[in-house]
Amino acid sequence: MATCPVCEGTFYVDEEEVEEGDLISCEECGAELEVVSTNPLELEAVDEEEEAKEDEEEELEM
Ligand SMILES: [Zn+2]
Repeated sequence: MATCPVCEGTFYVDEEEVEEGDLISCEECGAELEVVSTNPLELEAVDEEEEAKEDEEEELEM
């Protein structure tokens, strides 16, 4: 079982199916979560807005 850092709900994740850096979705709230550790299984919310801004900056620099 994994705990969602966004809604604090728990949902089933097969620890043998995921690796560090994998992105999965919370079954409770739909948030995108990154696997930061597999033993024990730890998830971190992915901030989509922040990533979008970074992409924009990179495009402007080019
Ligand atoms: Zn959630």
